[in-house]
Amino acid sequence: MKLHKTLVKNKPFIIAGPCSAETKSQILNTAKEICKKSFVNVFRAGIWKPRTKPNDFEGVGEIGLNWLKEVKETYKIPVITEVANTRQTESCLNNNIDMIWIGARTTVNPFYVQEIANVLKGVEIPVFVKNPIHGDVKLWAGAIERIHNSGNKRIIAIHRGCYSNHCFPLRNNPNWRMIKELRKLLPDIEIICDPSHISGSPKFIQSISQKAFDLNLNGLMIETHIKPNKARTDAFQQITPKQLECLLGSLINTTPKLLKK
Ligand code: PEP
Ligand code: MN
Repeated sequence: MKLHKTLVKNKPFIIAGPCSAETKSQILNTAKEICKKSFVNVFRAGIWKPRTKPNDFEGVGEIGLNWLKEVKETYKIPVITEVANTRQTESCLNNNIDMIWIGARTTVNPFYVQEIANVLKGVEIPVFVKNPIHGDVKLWAGAIERIHNSGNKRIIAIHRGCYSNHCFPLRNNPNWRMIKELRKLLPDIEIICDPSHISGSPKFIQSISQKAFDLNLNGLMIETHIKPNKARTDAFQQITPKQLECLLGSLINTTPKLLKK
C-alpha cells in the first residue's frame, strides 16, 4: 500500500485541543492560548461524541463546525474533528474542515468504515485512523486499507491504547507491540500517539509521550482545555495550554526544534 507522507518531515506533528467543543468561547479561547506558541500543527475538538452511556453529553453537533471554521480563520491553524458516519463526514467536507479522524469505537466496525470510505472517494482530506478499542492490529490495518481503496493516500494512524482490565492506573493499555505489527503490515504508515486516552489523567502523559518519541512515532494528539476541570467530557485527563507547553518542552525528541520560535 502506497501512502503519501502527510506530516511535517523531521518534526513531531502535534494536534491539541479539547476533547469536546462545548461553547464558542471555550473553543476560541482554548485555540487562542494554544496558538500563542507555534508548536501545535492542528487544533482538535470533538463535536459528535461517542458516549458509553446514553444521556451523557453527546457533543454540540453541526454548530461546532462553525466554531472550528472561526478558529481556522482567526488563528490560521488547520482544524480536525471526529467522524463516525457518512452524514458527519459529508458535513465536514461541506464545511471545509481540514482533517478528520475515525475514533476507536468506529474503527471496530467495518461497515461504518466502508461507508465513510465511500464518501471519501476522490477526496484528498487527511484521515487519521485510531486503533480499535481492543488490540486487533488487522482490524486497524483493514480500516486504513478501506480508506486507501477509496483513493485517499493521506492516512495517518493514531495509537490511543487498548481497553484492558489490567492497565490500572492507566485508562488504556499502551500496546507498543501493535505499533510494531502495524508497521510490518503497512511500512509506509505514519503513526502518532494519543497519550491522553492512554493515560486517563495528566500524570502519565509526559512519560507516554516520551515513549512514543523513543519509538519514533511521528507526533502526538493531546487533549487540551482552558478549564479542564469544567470540561463536559474527559475532564480528568485534559491539560491546560500552559501545561501543554511545559510538557512539550520537556520531551527529548529526535529534533530539538519542537519549541523553536
Ligand atoms: C476522543 O479523541 O475524544 C475520543 C473519543 O477518542 P477515542 O476514539 O480514542 O476514544
Ligand atoms: Mn476524549
